[in-house]
Amino acid sequence: MVGKQLNKIIVISPHRDDAVISIGDYIFTNFEEVVVLNVFTESISAISNIPKEKEVVPKIRKHEDQEVSRIYGFKFIDGHFPDTSLRGINWFDQSIPVDKTLLNKVSNWIDSKLDKILTKNCILFIPAAYGLHHDHYLCLLSFAENKLLRKMKKIKFRVYCDQPYYFRDKLFHKGHEYLKQHGQFNSHIFNTRSKENMLKIYKSQLTDDRINLLTKVIGTECFWEVDLIFFIQSKQKLIS
Ligand SMILES: [Zn+2]
Repeated sequence: MVGKQLNKIIVISPHRDDAVISIGDYIFTNFEEVVVLNVFTESISAISNIPKEKEVVPKIRKHEDQEVSRIYGFKFIDGHFPDTSLRGINWFDQSIPVDKTLLNKVSNWIDSKLDKILTKNCILFIPAAYGLHHDHYLCLLSFAENKLLRKMKKIKFRVYCDQPYYFRDKLFHKGHEYLKQHGQFNSHIFNTRSKENMLKIYKSQLTDDRINLLTKVIGTECFWEVDLIFFIQSKQKLIS
């Protein structure tokens, strides 16, 4: 729990569905105002029956977010950065170095948006980059950049677990060791039916099997309370 005096949450969501997949029920049931910063919104990533075209996929995915807004009241702000599917790289290929130019742009964009939407009574949720998806990792590393790192000293924040990667992935960075040893772990057990209903909106991304995995197998949303050192340590990848 993050304290009842906080009624607004800002979630950094690498892709359009990550905030809902990872902590959708927690944010819906605990906050009056939910703002999601969708970073990599330009994409051709979708499940099999959808044409993988950059004119098609982002529109479908935006429509899914609009449906979440209509039903749950979340507000989405789009970054319009191209995701790995458009940059032509495999999200899980760890031999590809961090794109410093893109990292800088993403960090500056998040910084400028936070300037506009941060309020005293709000808390910021940042992905822990479990699974080391390049886009998730870039979002996390944005906070290890000097400007954002300095800003974080004045902000209440938590780090959330990117689902469905937790406990299921062999790709780690040093921040994950920090989480295990020093992070204060919080788990939110959700109502399976409620979460299923939320996830079903993201039809272009989630098969029934994936929804089953997220709700009935994993069955929890989690986050940690951490110090700023977490962001610094996260810069080091641990690949076995
Ligand atoms: Zn994602």
